[in-house]
Amino acid sequence: MVRHALADLVNSSGRLVSQCGSGRDAVELMRKEPVDLVLLDLNLPDMTGLDIMQWIRESRMDTTVIVVSGDDRIDSAIATLKSGAHEYVRKPFEPVALIRCVENALEARKLAWENTAMRMRLEHSERLHRYLVDNSPDFIFALDPQGRFRFVNDRFVALLGYSREALAGVHYSAVVDDENLLHVKWALGERRTGERASRDIEIRLIHKGADADSRSEDATTTVSLSTVGIYEEVSSDAHAGRRFLGTYGVARDISARIRAEQIVEFHAFHDSLTGLPNRTLFRDRLSHGIAEMRRHRKSLAVLFIDLDRFKLVNDTYGHLQGDHLLQQTASRLRKCLRETDTLSRIGGDEFVALITDLEGRQDADPIASKILHELAEPFSLGPESFRTSVSIGVAVYPGDGSNEEELIRNADLAMYQAKRKGRNGIAFFSPNLSTHFADRLQFEHDLRGAVKRNEFETYFQPIHNVRTGDVERLEALIRWRHPSRGLLLPGRFIGIAEDSGQIRELGEVVLDAACSHLAKWRASGAGDLGVSVNLSARDFDHDDLVERVMGVTRRHGLPPNSLELEITESLLIEDMDEVSKRASRLRAEGVRIAIDDFGTRYSSLGYLHTLPISAIKIDQSFVRDLGMRNTSSSIVAAMIGIARGLHLDLVAEGVERTEHLESLRGLGCDVMQGYLFSRPMPGEEVSDYLLSARVRS
Ligand code: C2E
Ligand code: MG
Ligand code: MG
Repeated sequence: MVRHALADLVNSSGRLVSQCGSGRDAVELMRKEPVDLVLLDLNLPDMTGLDIMQWIRESRMDTTVIVVSGDDRIDSAIATLKSGAHEYVRKPFEPVALIRCVENALEARKLAWENTAMRMRLEHSERLHRYLVDNSPDFIFALDPQGRFRFVNDRFVALLGYSREALAGVHYSAVVDDENLLHVKWALGERRTGERASRDIEIRLIHKGADADSRSEDATTTVSLSTVGIYEEVSSDAHAGRRFLGTYGVARDISARIRAEQIVEFHAFHDSLTGLPNRTLFRDRLSHGIAEMRRHRKSLAVLFIDLDRFKLVNDTYGHLQGDHLLQQTASRLRKCLRETDTLSRIGGDEFVALITDLEGRQDADPIASKILHELAEPFSLGPESFRTSVSIGVAVYPGDGSNEEELIRNADLAMYQAKRKGRNGIAFFSPNLSTHFADRLQFEHDLRGAVKRNEFETYFQPIHNVRTGDVERLEALIRWRHPSRGLLLPGRFIGIAEDSGQIRELGEVVLDAACSHLAKWRASGAGDLGVSVNLSARDFDHDDLVERVMGVTRRHGLPPNSLELEITESLLIEDMDEVSKRASRLRAEGVRIAIDDFGTRYSSLGYLHTLPISAIKIDQSFVRDLGMRNTSSSIVAAMIGIARGLHLDLVAEGVERTEHLESLRGLGCDVMQGYLFSRPMPGEEVSDYLLSARVRS
């Protein structure tokens, strides 16, 4: 009855009230669902109220217990309260008192619950902020009023390499680059807040253990710093009542951005392959150099340096090796210059050097020679070694130009002159080169269509054996019938054709013309006549040279030994290995090989033993001097000795006068070529010449 009465008493809207007639029922119920409040009697049919409270404690139930009991002993009340009861209500009870007691208990529960919820929310929010702060990509820190670190986030710690503890209490100046200290001090000293907070100051932070002077990338990090002062309002008076508590700051790592900016700037002024200054930077340095030399009354030199066979490397070894060669060239050139000189790459295989503080023109020569020498050493391209050479043009301030444009252009002109003289050489600018240059541009243009327009003609110059009186062979010499300039000699255009890649076509024209003419002459009586064709260095650059040559002789039905190929000594210097490989294969096929312009270039004659040579042609410079200088006759005598010793045929070129003929004969050289016998003539005139020569002998 009492139980039912109690249930009615506490029942009100929103509450769910259940009744249990035994201890077991109560435990059963509480197991099934959470119960906020239990009104519990101590004397139950099957157990005591204390047993139930013990069970509640042990099962860690969050349940409030109010004991309602007829036991009026004070110790019972104490025991129940000790066991965790919220209240002890003695029967019979005042209904109002009981209701208030229940209400109080429920209110206390509600407060406790709200408290917990709040605490959990706070904990969560604290954890969230800590997480955000520590995982921020930015450096976040707090300083005390004296500028010592009070807080740093994980990022800060990781970057600088200090532990959190080691940084705590340390003054910020320990991690800021000295150069930026004033700036930072100003930013912090201003103690700005709100809109006036300082933002985006660029400073460098120094990593732990890094040398303070070191500016290397892993010793410092450049950051953009923003700070704000923290204040506490002490009184309502806005000015007097603020206490400075310290500074909060955020710094963002901008090293990557700065590096990117540096790279962009570097590329604007440098060549990315070699890292050398580019044309823009070179011109800038040159114009400064000119101003300085003018002030100090000194000279400067601009060296225009061009790799002679770069295109070949690109074509045969590939661009990667080409790049490699350029890099090696750059570093060798750099070694030839002083720290204060500027070396720049301004085009594919073109470098320019600026050399200042010279006393005059003469000072540039040793430097250019040193470069020439340094680059003559073979380069390694992968497993192969490759020989190249450079052509250097020199223009000197003040003589050869007064501004950077003139000096660069004139050095360039001089470089072309060096090429024309036969590569691997140095040329100084001289005013008459300018006209050559204009020529050259026009020439290159004209040359491009000349083969198709059939403007090339092959002339022939007979080579006589003065002992037998026979014409042994004829040398094919190319001519260009230029539409406006008339008949041009090869000296005017061979070099250009080589540079512009047209020499191969030219070579084919001459080889074919020579063989087809020879076949006709042989068919009309000159049975064992031969022909000589000049080959260019570029002809040896191609793998199919041997097949091409053999193809032409076959097509015209000529025995291979009726054809002689002339190679100049300078060609040998450029690439001994490649030339000798291909020359050997040609020789094996029966084709004759002659060394042209013998004595002019190569300082060692060792190649004569290793190359499969049939003949040497004494250069006309030695012949021209015969009878005028004793030295030349002894040189010619030595050459004749060499040829005899090695069983080589010998031809003297440029025989213009009977004295030459006599001297050569006296020395034992019988085969000759020169104006004395005939100038080079068109193929059509050769038959008549051969006839009259036969008649004469
Ligand atoms: P080279 O092979 O040494 O040819 C001899 C040069 O001397 C020819 O000049 C010829 O006309 C000239 N010469 C002949 N006899 C005399 C003489 O008695 N006195 C003087 N002062 N000169 C004489 P050219 O035809 O102007 O050829 C110059 C060079 O051009 C040739 O020198 C040769 O290296 C090259 N060349 C000619 N034709 C070709 C060609 O088809 N292909 C290639 N790659 N080079 C060629
Ligand atoms: Mg020749
Ligand atoms: Mg010659």
